[in-house]
Amino acid sequence: MSDIVKDLTNYRIKGIEKAEVEFYEQLTKTLDKIEDEIVALADVNLPRQAGKLIELQSAVAIRPKIKAILDKEYLPFADRVVRKGFGEQAKRVERQFKTIGIIPPEFQELTKGDLALVKNLKQQYYTQFKDVSNNFTRILSDKVYQNTLVGTEFTVLEKELRESINGIYANSRDPAVNRLVSYVKRNRDNPRLKGRVDSAIKQLQSKYARTRTGENMKRYAGQILNDSLRDFDATLNFNKSKDAGLTFVKYYGDVIPTTRDLCRRMISGSLNKRKNGLFTIAEIQDIWATRSWSGKKGGNPMVVRGGYNCRHQFSYVNPDWYEDDGEDSSTLLKDSKQDTKPTTSIFGNISDEERKYLPLAFGTVATNFTRTISKIPKSPKMPQLRGNNAFYRPSTDEINLSDFNIENNLRARRIYAHEFGHKIDHNIGNIMLEKKDIAKKLYQILIG
Ligand SMILES: [Zn+2]
Repeated sequence: MSDIVKDLTNYRIKGIEKAEVEFYEQLTKTLDKIEDEIVALADVNLPRQAGKLIELQSAVAIRPKIKAILDKEYLPFADRVVRKGFGEQAKRVERQFKTIGIIPPEFQELTKGDLALVKNLKQQYYTQFKDVSNNFTRILSDKVYQNTLVGTEFTVLEKELRESINGIYANSRDPAVNRLVSYVKRNRDNPRLKGRVDSAIKQLQSKYARTRTGENMKRYAGQILNDSLRDFDATLNFNKSKDAGLTFVKYYGDVIPTTRDLCRRMISGSLNKRKNGLFTIAEIQDIWATRSWSGKKGGNPMVVRGGYNCRHQFSYVNPDWYEDDGEDSSTLLKDSKQDTKPTTSIFGNISDEERKYLPLAFGTVATNFTRTISKIPKSPKMPQLRGNNAFYRPSTDEINLSDFNIENNLRARRIYAHEFGHKIDHNIGNIMLEKKDIAKKLYQILIG
C-alpha cells in the first residue's frame, strides 16, 4: 500500500537537496570571484618594498573596499537563497498539505499567518548570511593590518586571504595544488569518483597543509545554506501542522553511513512505542531532552531535528489516517485528492520510463529544466543493460545506466540526471543546427 505522507515528505526532502546543489554551485562561483577580487584589490592598494608590506595607512584604508566587494558579490547570493530557495520550498510544503487534502481546506493553502512567518524566516536567515559577510570583512581586514604591521611578504598575506575565503579550495601559486582543487570542485558531486575526490582532499590537507576545518567563509556560508533550507522547511511545516491540528509525527529520510544514531533509530522504528510508527510531539521533545549526541543543536527539536547537517524531516499526521498495524487507513487513500506525480506531465511528451524517472531526477514542479526537457524529443527505451557503465549515446539518443534503482537510490538518481543533462545538451545542439531561433530561446530558458 502506498504511503502518501512518505512520498510527499520525500518530495520535500528531494526539493531541498536539489536547491542545495544549485545554491552550493552558486556559492562556489561567488566565493571564487571574491577571492580573485580581494587579492587583486590588495595587490593594487598595498605598497611593498622588496616584496614586503610597508604602509599601515593603506592597510587601514582598504577595509571599506573589502566590505564593498563582499557586499556586491555575496549579499545577492544570500538574497537568492532566501527568496528563491525558501519561496520554492514554501510551495512544496503547501503542496504536501493540499495533496493530502483531508485537513480543513482553510489550512491547506499558505495562510496570511504562514506568509508572515515565511517573511520573518527569510529576514532571519538573510541576517545569518550577512553576519558571515560582516565577520569576514573584519577577518580579512585584520589580516591585512597585522601582516603590514610586522612587514611580512605580500605572498604570505595573499595565501592567508585566499584561504580565509575558500579554505582548502583556495587558489594557490603551486599548480599542483590548483590541479587538486579543481579536480575536487569538478567531481565532488560525482559518486563514482568519491574515492579519488576523498584522496585529493586528504592530499590537500596533509601534503599541502590546508585545513578544511579552519575558519573560512566557504565553510560558514555553506553550513548556513545547508541548515537554513532544512530549518525553514521544518519551521513552516511545524507551524502549518499546528494550525491544522495535526499533533502526531513521523520521521523520514535516507539512512546513510554518516547518519546519526538517533536519526537512524527514529527511522528504523527502534524508538517506536506504537505499531503504526507515530510519535506525539511531547514524546519527541522527551526523547530529544534526555539524549545528547555530537552535532546536536539547541532549540525546538521539531525544527532543529538531528542537528547540524541533519537531512531528515518530520511530517505531521492524524492517527486516524493509520490502522493500528501501521498500514494507511482507507481514509488516507480514499480522500487523498491526487497522487504526488502529476498526470499531465510538465515534461511534455515523454516515454513511460521517463514518466517514472524524470520527476525523481528533476522534481515535480516546473522549472527551467522541465521546460527545456518538454521541448526535446522523448527518449527511446532504456537498454537494460549494456556494460557496467552509465553513459549517454548521442547517435541513438540513448541513456544507459549501471544502476536502475532510481526510485530508491539517490546516487542512481543523480547519475541519471547527469546523463540526462548530456541528452539535453546534445538535443539543443541539434535543434540549433536546424532552427536557430528555437535553440536561442531554449538557451535563454536554461540560463534563466
Ligand atoms: Zn538526521
